[in-house]
Amino acid sequence: MSPKGLAFAMTSLLDQTGRHGATTSSFGAAINLTCRECGATYDLGPGNACEQCFGPLEIGYDESLLATVTRESIEAGPRTMWRYGELLPATPLVDLQVGCTRLHRADNLARELGMKTLWVKDDSGNPTHSFKDRVVAVAASAAKALGFSVLSCASTGNLANAVAAAAARAGLRSVVFIPHDLEAGKVVTTAVYGGTLVAVDGNYDDVNRLCAEVAGEQPWAFVNVNVRPFYAEGSKTLGYEVAEQLGWRLPDQVVVPIASGALLTKVDKAWREFSRLGLVEAAPYKVFGAQATGCSPVSAAFAAGHDVVQPVRPSTIAKSLAIGNPADGPYALDVVRRTGGAIADVSDAEIVEGIQLLARTEGVFAETAGGVTVATLRKLLADGALDPAAETVILNTGDGLKTLDAVAPVARPTATIRPSLEAFREAGLA
Ligand SMILES: *Cc1c(COP(=O)(O)O)cnc(C)c1O
Ligand SMILES: [Zn+2]
Repeated sequence: MSPKGLAFAMTSLLDQTGRHGATTSSFGAAINLTCRECGATYDLGPGNACEQCFGPLEIGYDESLLATVTRESIEAGPRTMWRYGELLPATPLVDLQVGCTRLHRADNLARELGMKTLWVKDDSGNPTHSFKDRVVAVAASAAKALGFSVLSCASTGNLANAVAAAAARAGLRSVVFIPHDLEAGKVVTTAVYGGTLVAVDGNYDDVNRLCAEVAGEQPWAFVNVNVRPFYAEGSKTLGYEVAEQLGWRLPDQVVVPIASGALLTKVDKAWREFSRLGLVEAAPYKVFGAQATGCSPVSAAFAAGHDVVQPVRPSTIAKSLAIGNPADGPYALDVVRRTGGAIADVSDAEIVEGIQLLARTEGVFAETAGGVTVATLRKLLADGALDPAAETVILNTGDGLKTLDAVAPVARPTATIRPSLEAFREAGLA
């Protein structure tokens, strides 16, 4: 894949605030792509693997530009994830008003679990009801700046929604690839945006492999393949928001669901950046990972003390997390081990209980991934891995309305009665 010339996308102009008269571009403070393994650098453009060592590429920034960011400059920004735009590798060329989702103090759930202070960061409040709107906002904006006119992805469901919606809003064509057996609540909510939706007779890992091949011959921006370095940075905004909403400080513990592992690594990156830039007081925190037992390659590697993640064939109701060969798995392991956290996994039955527990105690209806996170929180507490007295944040990354089938058998009317007072009395519901 040949990197596109970027000269047309770069503009040198005076910062309109006059604050630092810096060179700005469509890519914010981003200056290059840097290999996470060998440190080789490349011009900003499409590409996700190092030509020297095949390591994954990550956005490199001009640290002097990042250093100009203050709490005040962020607070003066829009009430969307773009308030952190100066820390992102894109400018909002595609904007569905993503982010600034609710952070609920979850006292009822905390009491039930014997915890002291618990928060639920609820990203189901995003435009297409999952945290994937964040990654797509950055990837779509970067793709537009790079001159692409087709937005594409390999998706476990939520990404399909987010890409189709962002493309519709941006006037781009979308071509979205999904496994054929996704929940109806994720197929309908993608197709409605009118793009091309390709159901592939295979699992997510098959879809991802196919997309890597298609990306090699079509000039399309696959948000999680050839523009993945931009995409992944969007997840940082979830971490930034939690810190800002806590009053510019970090919690002691966070529980993050793992699919590819990118979100987990980027929440950690966000908090290290905020600490380094003096936006929060640097304090230790522990990052915990949550997986479904039916797709738990990272949890298994953690338990075995391995650095490599052995791919698995997924079988779980948590389809949004069903990545058997997670690209960022080893990096997620690094973060969890460095911070002193842990990774655990839960059964499909526990996932359903987790969804019910969060809904019953806090009035938040999570999708299966949220059920994984809540059930894993409970398991980590039972194992003594997570401290019930330490301030904890859990991330609900998606909306229960998209995975109704998971809870339909256990979420039924209490009774069905004839429309008479007598029938109501007889049913014993008062
Ligand atoms: C994609 C997804 C995740 C995990 O994302 P990764 O960055 O791939 O680990 C978590 N929750 C939901 C609901 C998702 O759709
Ligand atoms: Zn390299």
